[in-house]
This record gives sequence, structure tokens and C-alpha cells, in this order.
Amino acid sequence: MNDPKLDYPNEFPVELTPPDISCYKNTNTGVDYVLSLDSGKSGPHVFISSIVHGNEPCGAIALDWFLKNNFRPKSGKLTLGFMNVEAYFAFDPKNPNRTRWVDEDFNRLWAEGVLEDETRKKTNEFLRANEVKSIVSQADYLLDIHSMQKPCVPLMMAGMLVKGVDFAKSVGMSMPIISDTGHKEGMRMRDYAGFSRKESSKNALLVECGQHWEKLSEKIAIETMIRFLRSTGTVDKEFGEETINELNPPKFDREVYRVGEIVTIKTDNFTFSSDWQGFEVLKKGTVIGQDDEKFIYAPYDETILIMPTKRLFRGKTAVRLAHRYKD
Ligand SMILES: [Zn+2]
Repeated sequence: MNDPKLDYPNEFPVELTPPDISCYKNTNTGVDYVLSLDSGKSGPHVFISSIVHGNEPCGAIALDWFLKNNFRPKSGKLTLGFMNVEAYFAFDPKNPNRTRWVDEDFNRLWAEGVLEDETRKKTNEFLRANEVKSIVSQADYLLDIHSMQKPCVPLMMAGMLVKGVDFAKSVGMSMPIISDTGHKEGMRMRDYAGFSRKESSKNALLVECGQHWEKLSEKIAIETMIRFLRSTGTVDKEFGEETINELNPPKFDREVYRVGEIVTIKTDNFTFSSDWQGFEVLKKGTVIGQDDEKFIYAPYDETILIMPTKRLFRGKTAVRLAHRYKD
């Protein structure tokens, strides 16, 4: 947990308490912290994943809510996964950025062949991803619950294909849907194998629930889990209605946007021209930032900034640039 890329001060209040998940260690899947609930009836295998990043507790809160209440799937099989547990257990509210990962980003290891690469360094994340990959690859539908570095409207990341956008619409969360590729530095779990193949019936969504430690992200995580389970037929259509009413999560615009450009940092001298928080709408030609000598301009009439990062290191994604979606 000594990656200098994670060593920057935190300016946001930590309003969430990460639940104790140690009771979910021993499971029936043969993989610690990944447990399956089988309804015994036919239906899809649905996987809900949390804490791919150790400092994003909202997903663990949603899974813990489901398990504590002893809910069960009514059809098919439901698998619930706590992914980067080692980073999660090291979470320190006084320095919450540091526990995003132990050695490297768990969510950049999912391109074909990466997890099978014998020459690759056996990092904590590489080993853990290898433990969970066979269960991930069995899933028909995946929901991967995340949160963001900066306060921003929640976003449903649907991947590049029309099937992802349609899936996001069917889940029906009141938030923008982003059709996107991931990052040049490596593929995300939501794009793994069949999830990003047009001909496959598998489908996946990644939800960004709000700022990592704000109360909003917990509400959005639970609501998204409920609506995802409903839309995949894992539970009844009325499931969780009381909880949604109690949480009373805010609603956001449901417009669909497409990421057209990824700004990847090329030098050690990258700066943003403003303290962008995400989802700003910029006019074409507005200066977004500068990578050494090179200015980065907004390329579209309405350019929407997707998740500008605070980790301005060479090779990392600085920001993604989106526009309104047209089929
Ligand atoms: Zn994340």
C-alpha cells in the first residue's frame, strides 16, 4: 500500500462506514468473499461485484444490506463478490485515497491473455483477479459497483455496444448513461470476454454511484442493486420498494452520452486548466488542460467531461470526453 500514485491529500468528508465483511470470508464457491445464492429454479447467473477498488465502500454496503436481510433470488443464481478485500481491509478514513489498491489497479487486468500471462508480476490484484475470474466468466449479467474521486452526478457506464446501453435503459436508474470504452492502460472487468462481444448474450454495467465517501453513493448503490436484480428477473418487480422509498435517492437526467475521446497523460507535466469535477459541459475549443506543451481542447460543440482524475501520472487516463449519443 505504498504506491506514490495514491499518496495525495483527501479534501472530502468520509461520511460512510465500511461494513465489517469478515463474516463473508468462508463461502460455498471455493473462493473467499465470493458467495453464491442459488434459487434452484432456472434463470440467469447474475454477478454483483463490489470493492474492485478498496476505497469505494458503497458497493460493500449494498451487498451487506442484501445479505444482512437474508434476501434470496427467486430465480436463477446470484453471486455476490467482494473483490479487492486486501485493499478494503486496509481502508483508513484519515488517508482514504491510499487503499484504492495494494499494488496495481484491479480494474485494468481484464484484456484477453493478461491474467494468463506467466511473465507478469504476481501482484495482489493479479492473484485475486485470477481467483475470481472463473466465476466472473460464468456470469450472464454483471453489475460492478464503483464510486468516483470527485462529487459528480452518478453515471451508468454501459460500454461501447448497443446491448450495454439497452441494458442500462432496462435497469432504469435515473442517471446519465455513458457509452464508453474504458482506459488505454488496461481493460476493465465490465468489458471482460463476452461482456464486450457483440455476438455474446452476456451483458454488464458499471455504476459510478457518486463521490467515494458521500452518503449519496450508498443510496445509489443500494437502489442500483435493487433495480438491477429486478430487471434480470432475479427478484420480483416489487422487491426493495420500501427501501427505495426510505432512502429517497435523488433523480438525475437519463440522457445517453458517448465517450469519443480518452485523454491519456503522456508527460510528467500535465495540468488541468480548471479544477474540473466531472460532467461539466464545455463549448468546442475550450481549453481543458495542457500536457507539457500540448493544449487539450474540447472537441465537440457540447463536450461533456467524464471523471477527470486527481492522479495526474503518465500513462493514466486524465479525463474522458463525451457528446450526446446518436445511434
Ligand atoms: Zn472504482
